[in-house]
Amino acid sequence: MQLSKIGEFGLIEKLLKKCKNAPPEILTGIGDDAAAIKQGNKKILITTDMLLEGIHFDLSFTTFFQLGYKFLAVNISDIFAMGGNPKYFFISIGVPKNYKSEDIGELYSGILKIAGKFGVAIAGGDTCESRQGLILSGTLIGNTDKIITRAGARAGDGIFVTGTLGDSSMGLMLLKKQASEARSQEFKDKTRNLKFKTLNPKNVLPLIKKHLMPEPIPLENTSKITSMIDISDGLLIDLSHICDKSMVGAVICKDKIPVSKELAYTAKVLGTDPVDFALKGGEDYVLLFTAPQDMKTTAFKIGEIVKSGRFIIDEKGRKTKFKPEGYEHFKNSNS
Ligand code: ADP
Ligand code: MG
Repeated sequence: MQLSKIGEFGLIEKLLKKCKNAPPEILTGIGDDAAAIKQGNKKILITTDMLLEGIHFDLSFTTFFQLGYKFLAVNISDIFAMGGNPKYFFISIGVPKNYKSEDIGELYSGILKIAGKFGVAIAGGDTCESRQGLILSGTLIGNTDKIITRAGARAGDGIFVTGTLGDSSMGLMLLKKQASEARSQEFKDKTRNLKFKTLNPKNVLPLIKKHLMPEPIPLENTSKITSMIDISDGLLIDLSHICDKSMVGAVICKDKIPVSKELAYTAKVLGTDPVDFALKGGEDYVLLFTAPQDMKTTAFKIGEIVKSGRFIIDEKGRKTKFKPEGYEHFKNSNS
């Protein structure tokens, strides 16, 4: 079976079937943001994420420092998505031999900057030569008293997000436009009708920063949360993961989806819909969770969990089905 047909999630589903029969101390295994393993009366969380040059980052528009910061940020985000505290980070790197040790030093300065903010210690790793660009693979260990999975959403729960959406994917589009990569035909086709003219840097820079150095934020109080995921692939995909694992449906309202003023401005100048970026753009690294509707929270309520079906209601009250559109490896090209 061609990977481009089944996509990343189809492949993971097949692998999950092959790796069944997990021992009982694995409380949450393949299929969530991190694995949860019971050790005595403690619950350990483990997550692993890769960043590949040419797929996840482009060194023509990210510095090594920014890359290091983002590398640990995306792993921290997965621990937060399980309701946990990040603790110990293992860093495996594949580096082309013409790269400089000073650059890898900068990468580590970025990692250490965010590690210091969140109390994460670097505990090991592996170093190899790469013939295919820079490869980063990080494994972050954390812990928690209460595991929050993707599987606990119930009909009647509210659907909440902890921050604005779409900034990162707009930031990436602006970076690509500036970079030589923007000359690729697919990127040109996709952005043909957009009016990149007098964008004000004051509005553009925060979007770019959100893409290059995302800032994960934990939920203070998780006692009433029924399910949670971090938005890495896009709201529609990540909400679909909650629906799949919880065996429920969802209705979201387009006009409730929080969009930053910088994204609203930029989308207006370009002549495009900011909510499209918010729904399908990935790498926001904010938390998407479900909880009783009346829960007191500063998060934005964007909809409701229902028994079945996946719907979006637009500004005019029209209800249409949504599909899990966003970023999926093997299915999307990186133009
Ligand atoms: P996230 O986007 O939160 O990092 P992923 O979509 O990468 O999550 O992974 C979803 C789940 O699938 C996780 O439990 C992850 O550990 C598991 N997974 C992904 N790839 C593999 C693989 N090659 N083998 C086993 N498990 C995998
Ligand atoms: Mg995740």
